[in-house]
Amino acid sequence: MLSRLIYHSENISGGLEGKMMGDLNKIMDASVRNNQRDGITGALLFDPIWFVQILEGEREAISATLRRIMPDPRHDAVTVMDCAPIESRLFGNWWMGLANMNVHSALLARHGLGPRLDPRKMSGAVTLALAVDVARAGLNRQVAAAA
Ligand code: FAD
Repeated sequence: MLSRLIYHSENISGGLEGKMMGDLNKIMDASVRNNQRDGITGALLFDPIWFVQILEGEREAISATLRRIMPDPRHDAVTVMDCAPIESRLFGNWWMGLANMNVHSALLARHGLGPRLDPRKMSGAVTLALAVDVARAGLNRQVAAAA
């Protein structure tokens, strides 16, 4: 069953910008490699404090991916915000698109949020609408469209 899961977590490497970007590059390398194999698409929004990730794919594939992600020492306190069956993908062009939310304060404001990302105050629906707008503005690492 095609499904979408949204979670947030605490970015452990946020205090050190050089380390954070190195960690993010490694995360993106593994994500593109594994998600392409597993038919997972989505978006990863980040700032120095938070990660918010959207995973789309078959429910079993999303669960297996989440089981790998949860114990990753580069983040903590994984909190599921929403999980539901879907008719079609919203992020089908990205095995995992990346966006730095520190450059999207205008979009945060448009959704009644901000000036900084704080997923503890965000519903799944608001998070999804925000991520769609961020994707329209441009995610990094666009790849060939997924199925
Ligand atoms: P490898 O990449 O070969 O890694 C082997 C092991 O080393 C794994 O346990 C990995 O966690 C660990 N590891 C590797 N590099 C580091 C490092 N720099 N610091 C600490 N431990 C490290 N993976 C996906 O497949 N899809 C996703 O969409 C995805 N999203 C993620 C989002 C976030 C916020 C984070 C923090 C991680 C995400 N990951 C994702 C990575 C995931 O947690 C696993 O690291 C990855 O899936 C393991 O890939 P692999 O089996 O190919 O192992």
